[in-house]
Amino acid sequence: MYDVKGHLHEVLDVLPEGVRLVAISKYHPNEYILAAYEEGQRIFGESHEQELRQKHESLPKDIEWHFIGHLQTNKVKYIAPYVSMVEAVDSLKLLREINKQAEKCGRVINVLLELHIAEESTKYGLTLEACRQLLDEGEWRQMQNVRICGLMMMASFVDDQEQIRREMLTARDFFDEVKSRYFADDPAFCERSWGMSDDYPIALETGSTMVRIGTAIFGPRVY
Ligand SMILES: *Cc1c(COP(=O)(O)O)cnc(C)c1O
Repeated sequence: MYDVKGHLHEVLDVLPEGVRLVAISKYHPNEYILAAYEEGQRIFGESHEQELRQKHESLPKDIEWHFIGHLQTNKVKYIAPYVSMVEAVDSLKLLREINKQAEKCGRVINVLLELHIAEESTKYGLTLEACRQLLDEGEWRQMQNVRICGLMMMASFVDDQEQIRREMLTARDFFDEVKSRYFADDPAFCERSWGMSDDYPIALETGSTMVRIGTAIFGPRVY
């Protein structure tokens, strides 16, 4: 088997205190997840509802599952009973649906707002302006069953390290703005989710509190 444990520790060894690892296990088998679990890893990220459901049902119940991909509103009801965090909320419509389904389950679901900063690589996420608009509009303040815990972004998939750094710094500055304008009295709003296998060293220099790393731990995905 691929040396999951060795690679996991290579990543964990360089994470500063206060930065958490979301081990991105999409397309990887349960035995890989269990190998990381045995080393104490508890937060895993998946991006497809059915795959997540199967893994949730067959793996230890103290795993915290993060949904990291684009989530369609009609899939929210399936993950609402157990998901620990929805990382990529990119519309008010999706936020409303998570709140509604969480209420039905008697839960409060943690979410991050996904920013679109990258010049390419994704069509999802809120522009900074759309994010401000969502927060200004204020409906989220009435939502009792979602907790907005911070911001998430994916940098452009490019070799240019300075571009990646610029995008992450934009996200960090925007986090500070949003924190002071809307969440100054809310300690739960504290997460900055950026950094993947190829760019997490830059993420650690630009204030990430949560890195989402798949390939560097589990090896290449077999689709
Ligand atoms: C797949 C994925 C990751 C992990 O990517 P790696 O390059 O394998 O580390 C992180 N974030 C999101 C949103 C993803 O879809």
